[in-house]
Amino acid sequence: MVDVPDPLFGPLEMAAVSQVLSSGQLWRGNGAGWGSEREWSDVAVADRLEDAVADKLGVHYVHAVNSGTSANEAAIASLGLAPGDEVICPAVSPVFVPFSILAAGCVPVFADVDPESLLVDANTIEAAISGGTRAAVVVHIWGMPAPMSSIMAMAERTGLKIVEDCAQGFGTKISGKPVGSFGDASCWSFQQSKHISCGEGGFFVSKSAEGYARGVLYSNAGIPNFRFNVDGFRPDNVAPEARGHVQFGHNHRISELQAAVAIAQLSRIEEFNRRRAELVKLVVAHLEQRGNTTLRVPAVLPDSKVSYWRYPILVPAGRGTFKGVSYLEPVFTQMHKERVTPFGVPIPEYVGYGRGECPGAELGVSQTRAVPIHHGLTDRELRDTLDLCLEGL
Ligand SMILES: *Cc1c(COP(=O)(O)O)cnc(C)c1O
Repeated sequence: MVDVPDPLFGPLEMAAVSQVLSSGQLWRGNGAGWGSEREWSDVAVADRLEDAVADKLGVHYVHAVNSGTSANEAAIASLGLAPGDEVICPAVSPVFVPFSILAAGCVPVFADVDPESLLVDANTIEAAISGGTRAAVVVHIWGMPAPMSSIMAMAERTGLKIVEDCAQGFGTKISGKPVGSFGDASCWSFQQSKHISCGEGGFFVSKSAEGYARGVLYSNAGIPNFRFNVDGFRPDNVAPEARGHVQFGHNHRISELQAAVAIAQLSRIEEFNRRRAELVKLVVAHLEQRGNTTLRVPAVLPDSKVSYWRYPILVPAGRGTFKGVSYLEPVFTQMHKERVTPFGVPIPEYVGYGRGECPGAELGVSQTRAVPIHHGLTDRELRDTLDLCLEGL
């Protein structure tokens, strides 16, 4: 019926990879003036990827990293939180979301979600605020946007910092504005299943130069070398025998090979998203054809354009197949018992990770099935996937 972008990784990606290989430089350099032969900031493919992403999303500060999870961590790091600070996140999300909060030495506090859309809103976030809360992560699950204008208004009133996790929402917009450009920071993934991919990879966005610098330091071994006219610096009084790492940081750098594939994929995002929209139409048509009135789909935010990652279908309660209540994972059960995070940070007694904590989330997953909407699927493959997804209904 319609053209499938075929192959998913085609001549553009191959040319980009082979160009990097021929250059002999597979890393972007670390900006510290050692290791790399070439000038750090001008020629790296990773730099070009960041510029292209900034342009596409209409944001200022972008830093590419080696996974979406690294991007989550960098986004949290960009907020400048202290160990023990509480960070609110949705009860339903990939576990990378609360994990990145733990990695920052902070305490995840789960906010309940709407049992149909599985999204948090200003009210469910506010209900989870305590005296120790400093920030909240909002996940645009399946690519469906959370209500950002009321969330940002609440954040302004309460002083919370907001991170938007856009790993499932490349192309989603609210009133014409891309998700990820509302909060203080946002994080994105290039993992295999996402809208654009280089296998593993991602990037974070910061609204401020200060936040960008913090996130880069965290992701690049604490080396103060920045782009976007943010002043990099050689710290004073570095011992002649030392290299100038000014703070703790991981090596979460993206490689030039990953960046080359990602930049080629980014140039094809409109093509991919057109195909995704066609697949969604097919799902809707098939659902109508089935005429099963017990199946519904969640309402989406008015005046938004949804770039679906998966397409959620609401089924009778108890018949859902989606798994994703983070606080029910064994690791949280353990924390609940021991009252301490894996990094030794005490968990306040009013923070719990037990069944019943977020009823909307537990009901929500029990009535949700989700069809993968990958732009690489043929019509036939989509139909088979949908049949499999709705099995037994
Ligand atoms: C995929 C995903 C991540 C993690 O990204 P990786 O690239 O797999 O590390 C984080 N958050 C959400 C919402 C995701 O879908």
